Amino acid sequence: MRAEIVIVGAGVVGLSTAYHLARAGLRDVLILEREAVGSGSSGRSLGGFRVDFASDVNVRFSLESLKALEGFADEFGVDPDLRRIGYLILTTSEALAARLRENAARLARFGVEVEVLTAGEIKARWPYLNTADLAGGTFCARDGTVGPSELTQGYAAGARRLGVTIREGEEVVGIEARGSRVTAVQTRTGRVETPRVLCAAGAWSSRIGAMVGVQIPVRPVRRQVFVTGPCVAIQGVVPQVVEVGKGWIFRREGAGFLIYGPQDDAPEGAAVLDCTSVGWAVAAAAHRVPPLAEAEVVGGWAGLYEISPDNHAILGPVPGLDGFYVATGFSGHGVMHSPATGKVMAEVILMGQARTLDIAPLTIERFGKGTLLEEPMTAPRQEGREGTD
Ligand SMILES: Cc1cc2nc3c(=O)[nH]c(=O)nc-3n(C[C@H](O)[C@H](O)[C@H](O)COP(=O)(O)OP(=O)(O)OC[C@H]3O[C@@H](n4cnc5c(N)ncnc54)[C@H](O)[C@@H]3O)c2cc1C
Repeated sequence: MRAEIVIVGAGVVGLSTAYHLARAGLRDVLILEREAVGSGSSGRSLGGFRVDFASDVNVRFSLESLKALEGFADEFGVDPDLRRIGYLILTTSEALAARLRENAARLARFGVEVEVLTAGEIKARWPYLNTADLAGGTFCARDGTVGPSELTQGYAAGARRLGVTIREGEEVVGIEARGSRVTAVQTRTGRVETPRVLCAAGAWSSRIGAMVGVQIPVRPVRRQVFVTGPCVAIQGVVPQVVEVGKGWIFRREGAGFLIYGPQDDAPEGAAVLDCTSVGWAVAAAAHRVPPLAEAEVVGGWAGLYEISPDNHAILGPVPGLDGFYVATGFSGHGVMHSPATGKVMAEVILMGQARTLDIAPLTIERFGKGTLLEEPMTAPRQEGREGTD
């Protein structure tokens, strides 16, 4: 069997890239997925969408993705469930509050309005929040959520319509190279000759790189989400509430609420819920949203963040290995950035460089050169570091 490109992974990133490649006219695009479409992190995402990032490259990816999301229903016939409920970012740290203020001023230069709020102002607008220990926060009304399944399935259907083949239950177990060029992919059941391979394997990307001697610095971090039943004390539109430093999130979901549990380094296969961590999740919720202490926890799930060393995506070709590309390491924002990512990756693969956005800051070479980026507003909490989602 032969393909013009093999994409490893049918998550939202691989699917968006396949769609854009096929739309640009590439034939014989093959996606190999060891489980099913959306079975990785894309199917476990909260679908938070925000422009309120601290690095310019992330802001640009959000703004470009937003354009695509606004036209998604027309392009795919699928409503992407974009809900502008706003993002409320909170912090108990004076240092981070200062960063949030600086960030709001920086975003104004992109035409993005972010309100800087004191603890008192936050309390007045969202009285169910405990603000006693807050140093401040910001609110971006244009941010909100998007449907991860809607995006994933929309891209999958759109790609299939354009002739992309998606083979589910097909695990990639090896990648062949001759000289400095990839030549084929091995699966459990066979071999596909191809001049191009895109690693879009999310939290499992480092394993794919290892198959061809490429170090892809992505590690899996387990995130756990619990779902509560209704809570009558919380009324009105609830924004996506993110607590910087604690990596904690809260928002309405159906009749109840979503609350984050603890995060931990996890073996790659261990995206399973640890029910013993419900106590941590409820305690964190009851502290920040006291009425939630009364709400019943009715369910939950776990998934893996694909964390890169500087909490930014890794995009583009891999130097020294012709035909091998990566699109991974989104560190908790791959769903929201998937529209722009698919577009720029198709440009890189077909035209040799990205035209829509500059991806130079996101190339894999940055780790060798030590030119890491900074994004205090995406990093999950790590040893000695602060961060959020
Ligand atoms: C709890 C949680 C909440 C999140 N919240 C948000 C959010 O609010 N907003 C946001 O934008 N993002 C969020 N994310 C992150 C987001 O889900 C990811 O960044 C995004 O889904 C990455 O998409 P992907 O296509 O790169 O990876 P994935 O969806 O993980 O897809 C990779 C695919 O590769 C497949 N694969 C792996 N190895 C192989 C192999 N050897 N052969 C074949 N196939 C293979 C896997 O089965 C998988 O389906 C969240 C993630 C989690 C876990």
